[in-house]
Amino acid sequence: MPPPQDENLDHQFLRVAIETIDDAVEVSDASGGFRYVNPAWERLTGYSMAEALGRPPSMLRSGFHPDEYYQAAWDTLERGQSWTGMMVSRRKDGGLIHTWLRVYDLRDDQGKVRFRVAVRQDLTEDRRHTEALRVREEQLSLAMQASRDGLCDWDLRSGHFLASDRWKAIVGATGEPEQLAAEFLARVHPDDLDALMEATAAHLGSREPAFTTEYRVVDESGTVRIVESAAVTVRDDSGEPRRMVSAVSDITDRKRAEAGLFHSATHDPLTDLPNRSLFVEHLKAAIGRAGRDARSAFCLLYIDLRHFKLINDGHGHSVGDQVLCSIAERLRQLVRPGDSLARLGGDEFAVLLAGVTDAAVADTAARRLLRRLEQPHHFDGLTVAVSATIGVAMGDANSEVDRLVRAADTAMYNARKVDHKSVGVATPDATARSQRRARMVVGLREALARRHLDVMYQPVVDLRTGVMVGAEALVRWYSVELGTVSPVEFVPLAEDTQLAGKLGQFVLDRAVADLRTWECNGGLPPDFTLHVNVSPRQLLDPRLPASVARLHESGRISRDRLCFEITETALIDRPELVVNAISTLREFGVQFALDDFGTGYSSLSHLRGFAVSTIKIDRSFVALLPEDAVTRQIVAGLLTMTEALGLAVVAEGVETESQQQCLLALGCSRAQGYRFARPMPAAQLHELLASQAGRARLG
Ligand code: C2E
Ligand code: MG
Ligand code: MG
Repeated sequence: MPPPQDENLDHQFLRVAIETIDDAVEVSDASGGFRYVNPAWERLTGYSMAEALGRPPSMLRSGFHPDEYYQAAWDTLERGQSWTGMMVSRRKDGGLIHTWLRVYDLRDDQGKVRFRVAVRQDLTEDRRHTEALRVREEQLSLAMQASRDGLCDWDLRSGHFLASDRWKAIVGATGEPEQLAAEFLARVHPDDLDALMEATAAHLGSREPAFTTEYRVVDESGTVRIVESAAVTVRDDSGEPRRMVSAVSDITDRKRAEAGLFHSATHDPLTDLPNRSLFVEHLKAAIGRAGRDARSAFCLLYIDLRHFKLINDGHGHSVGDQVLCSIAERLRQLVRPGDSLARLGGDEFAVLLAGVTDAAVADTAARRLLRRLEQPHHFDGLTVAVSATIGVAMGDANSEVDRLVRAADTAMYNARKVDHKSVGVATPDATARSQRRARMVVGLREALARRHLDVMYQPVVDLRTGVMVGAEALVRWYSVELGTVSPVEFVPLAEDTQLAGKLGQFVLDRAVADLRTWECNGGLPPDFTLHVNVSPRQLLDPRLPASVARLHESGRISRDRLCFEITETALIDRPELVVNAISTLREFGVQFALDDFGTGYSSLSHLRGFAVSTIKIDRSFVALLPEDAVTRQIVAGLLTMTEALGLAVVAEGVETESQQQCLLALGCSRAQGYRFARPMPAAQLHELLASQAGRARLG
């Protein structure tokens, strides 16, 4: 720019402004040649100021417009008005530029044109985008015609917001164009606004061309409509979003219809509570929330009504239905927002308590729920009381729906069947245990059917002489699937699952057969007793005396050779039946030993009524010998009393010589334990018996 003659601060300021703006500015003088062009002009046209100065604006003519177009512009300027319009010009490199041109004539006092100032705004970019937009707009407007969508166009740089009437009608906007954007945001349902803003921001920050959202709008009368919006964003070359065009459609009716279908597919028709499938979704969502925020862990309550069938049978199904609805209603009243409820099936309900992370709190909540459910229900003069059991499982980010439901179900089952309680809380351990138990029951049943169990024998020795005076049969199960399973684990399981009788019979048959072999081969000491463990259930099984009788009649077993080891639990649970069973079996010459003595509650005097001839001191006592003085005293006292009562004593689990010596010193005469021999196969015991006959000693 040639230095103005009277350059002062104002001029400097204007120069800086003109030189830094994005719009191209050109000034020509009365001679028709360029007098000044700014840097933006140089960039736009590709000509430098030096190349331009003195040359006429027609140097940029593109031939794009007809002569009349230029003529009309000149005519306007001639009339003293400014001219504004599209102008396609040609760059130095031959390319076309689309500009938005504004031309002003500066005249002197006589009205003579001194300078012509033109400001060009580059539309090239805009045009390209407008073109893209136009194509999309066309597509959108086609869609709009078909679907009666509303259309809006939002210029992200200027904030300019244009909307079709249909758009306004759908959104419920009435205001002027300038207020539309603000009005729109005010119309969006407050609960959906954050999500909409977030989705929009995420979309604008991405490179995605289009996105669809759904939200609710509330019009002035408060009517809520659900709209679906399909937006297309136009970006510049650097990916910056420039404008967004969206088509909105009112999907309220469709949604309502869908919701109706959804509701009936996801709710229990009787109680209108969510059904299992919806509850599973709620559980998944809760697990997801817990993953994002540890404080939103939760607990699951599995509620099972007791003897509900009796209500149905006794009062009829309509009363049963009323009870279920009443239960559902009480549950609804008890839960808080954020919790979930469901009827999982017939008489099973589930509750998800959000934010409950402590098992003790869950337990208390379950009890509170239970108290409410168990209050009597009144219908038309009828009062019905229902009781329930609740299983509780704690859920967190690592939970899996299936396992969680199973854990709560198992906790409920255990509470009812095993612990006889009304509320049970699942521990992770309990879940794993119950799975193992389930596998064990299947495996054990099969092992019994195929006789895939084994029996080992552990010698019982005379502590003074080391001579074997008997042996205890100990069952073994080597499962392919579960590995070696301890009888401590599977014997109680057999008890619970009606397999006790079969298992006991198997061991008894095998033990008697092995005894017979030893006997026939000679070398069995005259007072040798075979100990067989008999579980409480087996003891009370009426088939037991019958099978023992058969063994005697068939001559497969001699009198007084057999000793049944029973535990205190058997005595405590059904004492009168046990007394009968023992006396019946004693008639066949079976002796009885009380196993694991000292671990239960029996006093020795109490034992007299049971006609037990031997007690076995539990190995937990022996383990503390000889060091522990109190144990020594207890064992000493025990031995004195048993002697007085005429009972024989076997010390279990003798492992060391010092234990052996201590027991001997205290007057114990018989023992069993690794010190003498571990449980061994029948054939090995037979060899031992044979070598003993040749005077070998154990211990
Ligand atoms: P129990 O009748 O008290 O059997 C003694 C247990 O102590 C056996 O374990 C035996 O191997 C173990 N033992 C023997 N000497 C020692 C020792 O010196 N140290 C140590 N630490 N342990 C020793 P096992 O065979 O695992 O049997 C465990 C329990 O399972 C038995 O305790 C019994 O209650 C039950 N059981 C075993 N077989 C049968 C059966 O055929 N029927 C029934 N009903 N129960 C059985
Ligand atoms: Mg035993
Ligand atoms: Mg024992």
